[in-house]
Amino acid sequence: MTKPRIYITRKIPAELVEPYANQFDIRMWEKTDEPVPRDILLQESKQADGLLCMLSERIDKDFLMENSHLKIVANMAVGYDNIDVDEAKQQGITITNTPDVLTETTADLTFALLMATARRIVEASNYIEKDLWRNWAPYLFAGSDIHHKTIGIVGMGRIGEAVAKRAKGFGMSIMYHNRSRKYKVEKTLQATYMDFNELLAKSDFIVSLVPSTTETNELFNHDAFQKMKPTSIFLNVSRGAVVDEDALYEALQTKQIKAAGLDVFKEEPIRANHPLVKLENVVTLPHIGSATTETRTDMVNVCFENISAVCNGLDPKTPV
Ligand code: NAP
Repeated sequence: MTKPRIYITRKIPAELVEPYANQFDIRMWEKTDEPVPRDILLQESKQADGLLCMLSERIDKDFLMENSHLKIVANMAVGYDNIDVDEAKQQGITITNTPDVLTETTADLTFALLMATARRIVEASNYIEKDLWRNWAPYLFAGSDIHHKTIGIVGMGRIGEAVAKRAKGFGMSIMYHNRSRKYKVEKTLQATYMDFNELLAKSDFIVSLVPSTTETNELFNHDAFQKMKPTSIFLNVSRGAVVDEDALYEALQTKQIKAAGLDVFKEEPIRANHPLVKLENVVTLPHIGSATTETRTDMVNVCFENISAVCNGLDPKTPV
């Protein structure tokens, strides 16, 4: 019997793929730092039964219509805004993602970014690297306290809750805004549900953890930043599309808000000459929320479990 063919759109370590080689005929894009060009993706997909793909691939309507023979597109991410899920449904293609396995890791990164931004870690480290430190000074890189401050989490889902747990450990007051109330989190972490505008006005730290959807598109716009305190710090670890970046730049430059920590951007990769990158009160990261070797391994395995299930006529573990 011929093995189902799976195309992996980005290079992942051979030892992670190897255990599945007896089950599948696996082909993979081999360049480490470049995404697969569209024409090659289309060519490979034509002969594949399933794809293991990443956020760098646009699985849009045209692609899905041309590749309606695919059984599964396993996205190696929890977000799936790179995929036209409605069209996939029309074409009978199963879409899966990788929730849960990346929750704690992404919450760690969110907290690391929060701390780096509040305590000006990157600026301070660069200062030494540039050999500018001459003497101790009382207000040298004085930042903002984190402990016992108020954190406002927008999107109290899996990652939001994991961030709230970390915040609790720092003695922070937790406020949240979400589509639906999360009574368990309210009870266990004493989190307070709030209207979006009230949360913006009261939080010292505002953390975006909502998915990118038509509803959340540019949720953080000029009006939203105007409602925040001048001492507030804004963090985005969800998707660039939820922020109006021009409005954020203006809010940071005019000191409407104090600082921002950003792991995600409208256009990725963001260039070094982007106005937001140039600001001293901004910490930027190259979309590394779930990037640890342990979690990447787990994500690959979840993708293969889903691919295996679908290719064997079973329900996938984590369908979208
Ligand atoms: P999740 O469990 O689905 O949580 C998302 C939360 O957002 C849910 O509680 C949902 O509410 C809420 N929500 C959705 N639309 C909303 C709206 N219009 N207004 C208010 N709340 C809304 O997802 P997750 O696993 O926590 O992941 C969250 C997002 O983080 C992902 O979608 C992804 O974009 C991003 N992410 C980024 C990285 C990175 O590398 N930076 C890594 C992992 C994830 P309901 O419960 O009512 O549906």
